[in-house]
Formats: sequence, structure tokens, C-alpha cells
Amino acid sequence: MANSKFEYVKNFERPDYLLPNTWVVVRIDGKGFTKLCAKYGFEKPNDRRALDLMNAAAKAVMTDLPDITIGYGVSDEYSFVFHKTCTLYDRRESKLVSTVVSTFSAYYVHLWSTYFTDMPLAPPLPSFDGRAVCYPSVQNLRDYMSWRQVDCHINNLYNTTFWTLIQQGGMGATEAEELLKGTLSKDKNELLYSKFHMNYNNEPEIFKKGSVVFRDYELVEPGSDKVGETIDDLAEPITQSKTQAENDKKRRAKARIVVEHLDVIKDEFWDRRPWLLS
Ligand code: ATP
Ligand code: ATP
Ligand code: MG
Ligand code: MG
Ligand code: MG
Ligand code: MG
Ligand code: MG
Repeated sequence: MANSKFEYVKNFERPDYLLPNTWVVVRIDGKGFTKLCAKYGFEKPNDRRALDLMNAAAKAVMTDLPDITIGYGVSDEYSFVFHKTCTLYDRRESKLVSTVVSTFSAYYVHLWSTYFTDMPLAPPLPSFDGRAVCYPSVQNLRDYMSWRQVDCHINNLYNTTFWTLIQQGGMGATEAEELLKGTLSKDKNELLYSKFHMNYNNEPEIFKKGSVVFRDYELVEPGSDKVGETIDDLAEPITQSKTQAENDKKRRAKARIVVEHLDVIKDEFWDRRPWLLS
């Protein structure tokens, strides 16, 4: 054991253990992706290759970190949810955030050429920032997921209309922005339909709903008994035996990880997959 006169500097580190028994969401976001989009000519408003690359990196992160229960991605961001019982790195915030960010960035760069076959990466390379937030109840966590998915919907409807006005309507950016100022969702839907014969509902689900990444077990049939969780459950100490926890961990590690474009705001998604929040 090293023991030098310099060792006191270790005491300058501050503890950053995240609140126990809470759902930890780590959200990462691409640094300066507006510029990156222009540099590599991403298709506007949605470049499918870039979304597929984000999803592939997210899958790899979840394979490496079985403590992550579910992920949700849109645009250049991804949210990863660590289970409330997670004890990885003793729940130290900087360890969790930096591990997710660097694992995601490493896979994003590693997998780039699979999705952008004719466009080699050159510095400045893609990088991501990250933060962690603790949510004490399942309701808070579900509201978080709903918040991101609503954001995806609002942005995508706006961006789809904006870029259609430019690409098919021949407008300039300022003109399109001016036209869309103060419009409601129904106005944008109407405009797309009447001017461009475009039904927003027929746009790809991945654009409209974003991407959900999770471990796929057997679905629970709608209407069958399910185990719900209340805030009262969070007040109870964890009584799960060590072997049960180990078995769960093994089962998690083996399960197939899937990427889907589903509604996470409605109850159905969660009701049919009770293992995600139990
Ligand atoms: P910051 O470093 O502050 O995050 P940023 O330029 O990344 O700056 P964001 O608010 O994160 O700003 O916005 C990301 C930008 O990248 C948006 O303009 C979004 O439309 C674009 N973008 C992300 N993914 C795609 C994609 N798959 N196809 C087209 N555009 C995309
Ligand atoms: P953790 O994830 O907790 O950091 P770790 O295995 O990375 O686990 P460290 O305490 O960081 O543990 O130790 C890093 C290990 O890697 C040490 O055993 C160190 O000797 C070894 N290592 C790092 N760099 C080199 C190198 N250039 N040559 C040989 N060994 C190295
Ligand atoms: Mg940002
Ligand atoms: Mg960004
Ligand atoms: Mg962003
Ligand atoms: Mg190390
Ligand atoms: Mg080390």
C-alpha cells in the first residue's frame, strides 16, 4: 500500500453517491451536432443512417452495462435508465456518467463506418456530454420518458414541416420560420396535407416516436394480472436475496436487446413489460 506525503490530496475529492433506491437517468447529448450534420451532409430533417448509428451505440452500451433497464433515443441524445437497485460503482455519479459517455462515444466512433460507408470520420471527432438525474418514483420516471417522447413529437412535426417548405416548397429558411411562427400541431398537419399531399401520420415511426431500447422477455398479455409498483414500494428496504439478485443479473445479461419505436407515454407499453420497472 503506497503511503506518501502526497497522499493527502486524495482528501480533496468530494463524495458524489447518488440517492439510493431511485431510478438514475443518464442522458447524453452530441456535442455540436448541428455542425457535425453539415460536415457529413446528414439528410434533413432525419438522417436514417445517423439514427441507426445512435441506436447501435445504445445497444452496445446496454450490452456492456446490464444495470441499464431501458434506453430512449431521439436526435443526438440518448437517455439510459439504471435500475433503482443498481449498485454499480457504489452509485457514484461521476463514475456512472463518465462510463456511459465514454462507452457510447467509443462505440459511436467504432461503428461509424458501418453506417456512413463512404464518409470517413476526421477530427474534430464526435463526442457527447452527459448528466445524471435521480427519480424517486415510477411515476416520475415514466413522466421523464413521456417528456422526452413528447419533445420528439413536437420537434419532428416542426422540423418535417420546416424542411418540406424548404425542400419541396422552395422557401428560404427565414421565410419558412416566419410562416410557422405561432402555428399549432393541427395547422402543421393541415399545411403538409393541403400543400404537399403529405400525411404526417404516414411518416416512419422512428422519426415520430424515437427509439426505445430494452431487454426482450416474454410479453405479458394485455388484461392479465400484473405487478405494479407504487411509491410505497420505494419506502421498503430491498429484501431480495443475493442469489435471486445474481440470477436476475444472469438472466438480464442473456436477454436479447431490441430497438423499437413504440409509444412509451401510454400504459400499454409498461403493462406488457412489467420486468422493466419491477
Ligand atoms: P450542443 O453541443 O449544445 O448539444 P448541438 O448542435 O448538438 O449543440 P442540439 O440541440 O443537441 O445542438 O441539436 C442537435 C442537432 O442535430 C439538431 O439540429 C438536430 O436536428 C440535428 N440532428 C441530430 N440527429 C440528426 C439526424 N439523425 N438527422 C438529421 N439531423 C440530426
Ligand atoms: P477500474 O475499472 O476499477 O479502474 P482497472 O482494472 O482499470 O479497474 P486500475 O486501478 O485503473 O484498475 O488499474 C489499471 C491496471 O492497468 C493496473 O493493473 C495497471 O498496471 C494496468 N495498466 C495500465 N496501463 C498500463 C500499461 N501501459 N502497461 C501495463 N499495464 C498497464
Ligand atoms: Mg446539449
Ligand atoms: Mg447536441
Ligand atoms: Mg440534442
Ligand atoms: Mg482503471
Ligand atoms: Mg487506474
